[in-house]
Amino acid sequence: MHPFSYTRATNVQEALGALAHGGAAKFIAGGTNLVDLMKETVERPQHLIDISHLPLKSIEDTASGGLRIGALVSNTELANDKRVRDRYRLLRCAILAGATRQLRNAATTGGNLLQRTRCYYFYDVHTPCNKRSPGQGCGALHGVNRIHAILGASEHCIATHPSDMCVALAALEATVHVTSAEGERTIDFAGFHRLPDDRPDLDTTLKAGELITAVELPPEGFADHFTYLKLRDRLSYAFALVSVAVGLRVENEQIAEARVALGGVAHKPWRDREAEQQLIGQAASRDRFEAYARTVMAKAHGYGQNDFKIELGRRAIVRALQQAAAGTPQSQVDKRIR
Ligand code: SF4
Repeated sequence: MHPFSYTRATNVQEALGALAHGGAAKFIAGGTNLVDLMKETVERPQHLIDISHLPLKSIEDTASGGLRIGALVSNTELANDKRVRDRYRLLRCAILAGATRQLRNAATTGGNLLQRTRCYYFYDVHTPCNKRSPGQGCGALHGVNRIHAILGASEHCIATHPSDMCVALAALEATVHVTSAEGERTIDFAGFHRLPDDRPDLDTTLKAGELITAVELPPEGFADHFTYLKLRDRLSYAFALVSVAVGLRVENEQIAEARVALGGVAHKPWRDREAEQQLIGQAASRDRFEAYARTVMAKAHGYGQNDFKIELGRRAIVRALQQAAAGTPQSQVDKRIR
């Protein structure tokens, strides 16, 4: 690990002010990803600003009927909040599908959004990686790419975004609140994470000097018809090969609104809003779900070892839609898929 200086901030202004130290300064809260990256020398900040004592730890009702989640609310606190248990069960399931209890106790809401890919080459500084060192090339493109992207990738990077929580937030259409010395702004969740294009080193649209302060959920939580289905190599402490977050609003036995977000398949949580329109006004039938899944996966492209994800993704989408429509979401305790 490279040497670094350390500041503990007690309020947002102090945290933003500490950035003025210059150099490669980074915020740290739970540190569940950043510390690993520092140990592997993938990240080499010269200055760490500890934000874990900032007053961003509350979950508040919003005037519109949604929830505003402070950036430092832990994954465990969020999953166990009564309002989340009752109204945003999709988000709770996605959080509980991720990591381990110990990690969820330390990991924060804001930090979850900033997790970096688990591409093997990204973590191995002796291999080429455009995300770590732009212009080096991509070791995964013709290498070991079983866990890599099948949608939205580029010739520069085929990495996937690792978060489970973010897949649910994409389906719920959350909003990210950020602040900086320039003021505050909000970012729609769909616009927060980037596809790699020719700048895979940029994971998000956050600007330099911006700090995430909160994530806001709209009122609709799809609590009656939802699921988070996560397929992985082992049943716990593993990242998704494919995951599917579904929220449906069903009226008069027809789908009135459909949200489907995929994890483990792209550089960001993947939504195909145009394809979702195929489901609107339709009865919940396996044939309809299969047609939808074929449309989504028609855009998929494998890179050899990950070709299997195209068929796996198609089947996962159908299964997840069936679970959501029937109101029988995937259990995060008994993870067998029925
Ligand atoms: Fe790096 Fe992306 Fe290629 Fe992985 S897939 S080696 S993160 S450029």
